[in-house]
Amino acid sequence: MRAEIIAVGTELLMGQIVNTNAQYLAKGLADIGVGVYFQTVVGDNVSRIKESLHIAKGRADLIICTGGLGPTQDDLTKDVLGEVLGQKLVIHEPSMNTMTEMFQRRGIPMVESNARQALMLEQSDPLPNDTGLAVGVAVMHEGTHYILLPGPPKEMKPMFDRYAKPWIESKLDHVQPLYSIMLKFAGIGESALEHALIDLIEAQTDPTIAPYAKEGEVAIRLTTRASSPDEAMTRLRPLEAEIRGRLDEHIYAAEDITLEQQVLRMLAESGQKLAVAESCTGGLLSDLLTAVPGSSQSFLGGVICYSSTLKHKLLGVPMEMLEGPGAPGAVSEETAAELARNTLRLLEADVAVSITGVAGPGESEGKPVGLVYVGLAHRNGQAFAVKLQLSGNRETIKLRAAKSALYHLWKTIKS
Ligand code: ATP
Ligand code: MG
Repeated sequence: MRAEIIAVGTELLMGQIVNTNAQYLAKGLADIGVGVYFQTVVGDNVSRIKESLHIAKGRADLIICTGGLGPTQDDLTKDVLGEVLGQKLVIHEPSMNTMTEMFQRRGIPMVESNARQALMLEQSDPLPNDTGLAVGVAVMHEGTHYILLPGPPKEMKPMFDRYAKPWIESKLDHVQPLYSIMLKFAGIGESALEHALIDLIEAQTDPTIAPYAKEGEVAIRLTTRASSPDEAMTRLRPLEAEIRGRLDEHIYAAEDITLEQQVLRMLAESGQKLAVAESCTGGLLSDLLTAVPGSSQSFLGGVICYSSTLKHKLLGVPMEMLEGPGAPGAVSEETAAELARNTLRLLEADVAVSITGVAGPGESEGKPVGLVYVGLAHRNGQAFAVKLQLSGNRETIKLRAAKSALYHLWKTIKS
């Protein structure tokens, strides 16, 4: 089933309110496996609402409109749909009775326009409004499903969840459930990932391939419909294997967990303790790690050695390496490796990681913004540093540096 959401309201077009209804509906529809192909916003205008319905009818099986069910002159959605489908509007008696009682109870006279809120299309199913007055409408016409919901979110949400969703699901009987595999990547950017998989992405039909990107991490979700998990896996596994064949060194998980969660899990499983030395990230790496519950099992802690003085005094980096003519400098491969080695030894860890770099906005030691070194040292004697050239503003560079450190840490403990 292909869905289109039409949000009706001139206020939306003019930017006076945000279309949160569309977001809520799109999420709710995804939960029941209905894909939203288009979202439209149209003003309170008869001919343009009509035009939107005609366009939607040609490309969607389910059309959900929100807004314009109220009592006033600019509330037109029911009238327009009635006209488009050639159906009369009739009073929904239970809604009319509730409304009449409410006005009586409050001792205010009910004006005629209020009665408009109890109208429905003659062949429609009413959607009760538990938190307001206007009754909603669900109707099937020439193979297309139409749903009209009120605009105010406090009315729209309960009506959708309690009445519209079950109505849609009852029309979906024969549709099979969705199954998916999430692959999480590190050490590769969104565009490089897409480039490596472009032929698969362009040729996708079933399973579908959907990329997601957040700062410092990218993911793809492979999805298919099937009658059983086994049947789904016969389609999903070969595609996963194809992707692993191309990018295995970047896939850190086949489930929706963060890189820091995975690193901590692997450390815990192998009984290893981690310590860090953070310069330009100022504790961000430690923050990411300690955000994971149970991190104390494997994370010892570390030193925020922002100044050369602390790099020297607390972590034993020779002053000659940090400063002076011909010295490699605080931002260098030598310093990163030395920081990692000394952190391992002084903090009695099994694995240590260091980060030193230029977060910007200006250069430092004559070195460019975004130049970052990540040092790694392991109890088995392995010690090295990797050079990164990161882009972005100060905040982004710090996050990318911390995530890159986690990536190199993951590679080290994996091998
Ligand atoms: P009412 O009975 O309040 O007139 P209605 O069903 O006629 O309800 P509208 O008149 O279109 O709906 O909108 C009423 C209010 O609902 C808007 O002022 C706005 O606060 C909210 N609203 C409408 N559409 C949306 C939307 N798409 N997203 C979020 N809020 C909305
Ligand atoms: Mg209104």
